[in-house]
Amino acid sequence: MMQQYMQTKKEYPDCILFYRLGDFYEMFFDDALIASKELEITLTGKNCGLEERAPMCGVPYHSVDGYLNRLVSKGYKVAICEQTEDPSTAKGLVKREVVRIVTPGTNLDTQSLDETRNNYIMSVVYIADRFGMSIADITTGDYFVTEIGDSEKLFDEIFKFMPSELICNEAFYMSGMDLDLLKEKLGISIYALDSWYFDDAICTQTLKDHFHVSAMEGLGLSDFDSGIIAAGALLKYLLETQKRDLSHMTRLSVYTTGKYMLLDSSTRRNLELCETLREKQKRGSLLWVLDKTKTAMGARALRKFIEQPLIDRTEINRRLDAVDEFKNEAISREELREYLSPVYDLERLVCKITYQSANPRDLIAFETSLAMMPHVKCILQDMKSPLLKELYENLDPLEDLCTLVKKAIKEDPPIAMKEGGIIRDGYNEEVDRLRSAKSDGKEWLAKLESDEREKTGIKNLRVRYNKVFGYYLEVTNSYKDLVPDYYTRKQTLANAERYIIPELKELEDTILGAEDRLYALEYQIFSDIRDQIAKEVLRIQTAARIIAKLDAFASLALVAERNHYVRPDINEKGVIDIKDGRHPVVEKMIPNDMFICNDTYLNDKKNRISIITGPNMAGKSTYMRQTALIVLMAQIGSFVPAASANIGIVDRIFTRVGASDDLASGQSTFMVEMTEVANILRNATSKSLLILDEIGRGTSTFDGLSIAWAVIEHISNSKLLGAKTLFATHYHELTELEGKIDNVNNYCIAVKEKGDDILFLRKIVKGGADKSYGIQVAHLAGVPESVTNRAKEIVEELVHADITTRIKDISVQGQSQTKVKTKHYDEVDLAQMSLFDTVQDNDVLEELKNLDVSNLTPIDALKTLYQLQNKL
Ligand code: ADP
Repeated sequence: MMQQYMQTKKEYPDCILFYRLGDFYEMFFDDALIASKELEITLTGKNCGLEERAPMCGVPYHSVDGYLNRLVSKGYKVAICEQTEDPSTAKGLVKREVVRIVTPGTNLDTQSLDETRNNYIMSVVYIADRFGMSIADITTGDYFVTEIGDSEKLFDEIFKFMPSELICNEAFYMSGMDLDLLKEKLGISIYALDSWYFDDAICTQTLKDHFHVSAMEGLGLSDFDSGIIAAGALLKYLLETQKRDLSHMTRLSVYTTGKYMLLDSSTRRNLELCETLREKQKRGSLLWVLDKTKTAMGARALRKFIEQPLIDRTEINRRLDAVDEFKNEAISREELREYLSPVYDLERLVCKITYQSANPRDLIAFETSLAMMPHVKCILQDMKSPLLKELYENLDPLEDLCTLVKKAIKEDPPIAMKEGGIIRDGYNEEVDRLRSAKSDGKEWLAKLESDEREKTGIKNLRVRYNKVFGYYLEVTNSYKDLVPDYYTRKQTLANAERYIIPELKELEDTILGAEDRLYALEYQIFSDIRDQIAKEVLRIQTAARIIAKLDAFASLALVAERNHYVRPDINEKGVIDIKDGRHPVVEKMIPNDMFICNDTYLNDKKNRISIITGPNMAGKSTYMRQTALIVLMAQIGSFVPAASANIGIVDRIFTRVGASDDLASGQSTFMVEMTEVANILRNATSKSLLILDEIGRGTSTFDGLSIAWAVIEHISNSKLLGAKTLFATHYHELTELEGKIDNVNNYCIAVKEKGDDILFLRKIVKGGADKSYGIQVAHLAGVPESVTNRAKEIVEELVHADITTRIKDISVQGQSQTKVKTKHYDEVDLAQMSLFDTVQDNDVLEELKNLDVSNLTPIDALKTLYQLQNKL
């Protein structure tokens, strides 16, 4: 047995091998060491012909799922090796085979997976400076492919799908890209596979075989060289691990990243689309507000909507029309939602069905779901919007499959598949006969007994049973003479004789064999039905996808109604005009409709950049995020929280917000901030929307202000970028830009002074804030009065050294030379000023150079430093 084990293990060196031994899966050697530690189970040993006992541990087969999930979620791969012949009939060692490999991205255990999100596995290949990417979810049959030109977009896509496992070619693995970042941020497992997985011919053939096509054109993949390899390698890997034909992966959807709004990972996080920034939970995210779906499929569909907003006006309007109709037809919509309530996760059910792992109760869940289809279809009948009409026409009510299950499977069957009780009475004659044989057997025996007594006149004739003879007739010696010829004697006792007759043996066969045969037959019929359903996987998946969309649209409509959203107009002129906009999440978090609404107006002409000033806590970042969210909501086809909204489609939204959660990565806050700014300036286009909060805060005032200033100049210039931007800042000096650049406008969030305190009005008004009210906010926050009073004194002193007047002298780059006059330097060229140049002073440098550091006492060193500093 150990030899068989070693042989198998050799084929799966990178997996933990679960080796089936009776009622346990056993692990040996290193696998046992790892598993006992990770699963906290006892490590024992087994004699295996070696000098030392082999380390061993095991888990019981009936509770294997939990253990499997724990290992897989920690990134291990597990190969499950089953006994493939019946131990009772096997000669010699029982044959064993690996039947499936479970990896993080191919976990099928729906109980451990979040049903409202997909469990994706992704394959990335890096070939000739392009990336081929393919994504699949084997629990639902989703399967996509695309190609991407640069590594940043690639990372954005990875963050969009958030796969739990990524397989790749060596070229990608060794490309120097920050895979640790992916592992850390996504908790993802990354495996580089052998090069033959990425062989062009093998990949093409794998895809052709699976989809039964003769050429790649048939799959719409003719121009996707690296895409074909990514998709082919992924399929190959799935076939290898699943060891079955994956018939539920019925289509490969080709998409281009140009079809959707691009969102980088920090923007996804900052806008809290599907989870909150800090707690990483759904509550408090946009998804939380919008998700009122009834089914798991609908929840996943809505998440996908949010994760990839559209950029095509016609498509957006088609969705909006559908939502609009559901909003107006509230009664129909609510009826529809009621019918959706009992619908189970058809996508994952059909996967179980094709994997032959669906149990009788799963089929009942399937039937209950299908039973709703005709009702759903009926409700859609009168819908007028093109998208709903299309869904109506394409919705197959699957009545044949529903009837099939309904007729055959009992209403409340057991989970077990081989213990009977599955098939309905009246569905199959043989089942009925066997079932009655089992329960009616006793009656039949009693009847035979009384018939024989009557026939023979033997009054105490008895039908009895023992293990050796089975059923027999017993006649005491006193009636011996009455025994007829057709009785065959089997045994003679002291005071009685035992006989059998053919009729009794027939009954015996029926009774004793009935149970075994019944169970086997029921299982057979059940499997046949399951296989029949599996053949219809494409129809079922299509219906499931329609249900998912309907559920998502109905949810958006309900939310629109309840939260008083309006339908946005969509334009391609670059105008964003929101009247009385609200933040969809914050308005839900604060009590009694206390949210103050605000307008936003941006366009490609005079209103490209809004500079927003106002004290901390005034509501700047809420306002900016609300604008971004309203634009994003409009582009997924949702109504928006506003009195009216006209939304010019944006190709990307970028955010750069103050609070950084990247501190843990070891980079300084400022470095992170500048990296993000660099990313934005390099990748944004004139069609993008930029949300910039407190740029330049992480460094000295001069540097920070100068950077912020230069960034605004760059963005505002349509030759350089020209993106629509909301820019919040605490540098009031930046309000000077309004007069200097004609597409920059100042706004501030109004506050009211009330003695020493301030009152937040939360209303955005034209113009710049004249004060920062930092001390008042500190006071509000509970900073001791002694400190705030002292702060006031310091402010007074500093006002005399106010740099504002000097800043006013700065002219705008491009219009005239950018110069800044300061107390200590006569003129500094801002354009050339690097981050660190402000401390340049030749005298100081000279002095520093001449210092004999090794002969300085610490005290002298400190003194010298102090003197030098004073010279600056
Ligand atoms: P800032 O970015 O100016 O420091 P925030 O946008 O973080 O301020 O807002 C601070 C708090 O004020 C928010 O947590 C929110 O509770 C509240 N708030 C912001 N905007 C509004 C508004 N329009 N109506 C009501 N409350 C608001």
